[in-house]
Amino acid sequence: MRIPIIAGNWKMNKTPSEAKALIEELKPLVKDAEATVVVCVPAVDIAVAAQAAEGSNIHVGAQNVHFKESGAFTGELSAAMLKEAGAEYVIIGHSERRTYFGETDETVNQRVLAAVNAGLIPIICVGERREQREAGYTNALVTYQTMIALTGLTDDQIRNVVIAYEPVWAIGTGLTATDEQANETIGVIRKAIENRYGKNVAADVRIQYGGSMNPKNVKGLMAQKEIDGGLIGGASLKAPDFSAVVNYQN
Ligand code: PEP
Repeated sequence: MRIPIIAGNWKMNKTPSEAKALIEELKPLVKDAEATVVVCVPAVDIAVAAQAAEGSNIHVGAQNVHFKESGAFTGELSAAMLKEAGAEYVIIGHSERRTYFGETDETVNQRVLAAVNAGLIPIICVGERREQREAGYTNALVTYQTMIALTGLTDDQIRNVVIAYEPVWAIGTGLTATDEQANETIGVIRKAIENRYGKNVAADVRIQYGGSMNPKNVKGLMAQKEIDGGLIGGASLKAPDFSAVVNYQN
């Protein structure tokens, strides 16, 4: 049985004081959630967010991590730094990082290894651009992205990662993959894991959908058999919206 996981991706929004206020507002609204609840906040918000969330069912995550343990990498943050600040999760390979910051499948893999070795749970983003879907490459692409991202992890480590299937054309656009499209592609990702690592490992990995998920469409998406949760951008910035997504079962 996979426990659903709903994670907010705040992107470059919310100062530390705003982060504290949003978490305080969220706490009573999500306290009875059946899903794991995560908020992935800007790095400077992690410590204050973790402190605000202490004793609640809200987990804090980061939005990126460097792959080296330390050294001359000006402006970067190591997995140990994020962990000590209070992060438990970290988004890796978000399409915005792939598009604007030169992230590749290989650096995604290095970041995943660094995160897992430091005890962080990676939320690994994969997904196709619109022209790739139209050209019929979606299944091959998400399979490739997933396999490269997981290279070098043990079976037990793979069981514990989270994968977010995020069609790039659905992120921040208001366009959502249909329930069936999302379910089908997530099924392809799970099958790829099964083919390489076996049925038991594949059955344990939680695979989210991300891309304009909101209080209106969450129920339909979450009713699909392969979809284990959501990575939520825009709708995670307001407590009523995010809590409505988190409490999709109500
Ligand atoms: C995201 O940034 O991961 C995302 C899914 O954004 P949105 O929900 O705004 O489409």
